[in-house]
Amino acid sequence: MNANYAIYPGSFDPVHFGHLDVIHRSTQIFSKVIVAVAESLAKNPLFSVSQRMTMIRSSIGDNPRIEIVQMDGLLVDFARQRDVYTVIRGLRAVSDFEFEFQMALMNRKLEPRLETIFLTPKEDYTYLSSRIVKEVARFGGDIRLFVPQPVADVIKSAS
Ligand code: ADP
Repeated sequence: MNANYAIYPGSFDPVHFGHLDVIHRSTQIFSKVIVAVAESLAKNPLFSVSQRMTMIRSSIGDNPRIEIVQMDGLLVDFARQRDVYTVIRGLRAVSDFEFEFQMALMNRKLEPRLETIFLTPKEDYTYLSSRIVKEVARFGGDIRLFVPQPVADVIKSAS
């Protein structure tokens, strides 16, 4: 088991400062953080997985302790493949709790070794979501408050 590794799964459609804050905090705790980008077709994503991965890479630059990969299928299967059983999720507000609690318990039921660790972002980012970023962009608002410049450029050209 890769004990000092963690998986940070999500859709990241697109990545924003809240996600980046959680990734940064995770690297302070774990020696390696695997950012696992799920296709999440049910969420009708705006960007392809490879676009989302490119945006994450351009936001964090080269950091050998952060790996960005596509995750197909169930998180528990991915965890087993990588032999990593710690999962990071972000908790912004009480409204996130119910869903995250359900997911954590369901994942542990499927794979008893799996532990979910919740990190809270800097308070400035608690209101941020990918949905809000896309909505502001669609109506021509300034999204540079929410995402790094390279990500803002990609979103602008898509909206
Ligand atoms: P999902 O995984 O549900 O498709 P996202 O890709 O938006 O959702 O988010 C991935 C993870 O990042 C989730 O754990 C989510 O709670 C967390 N997250 C999203 N926005 C923020 C934020 N502003 N601050 C901290 N964590 C966040």
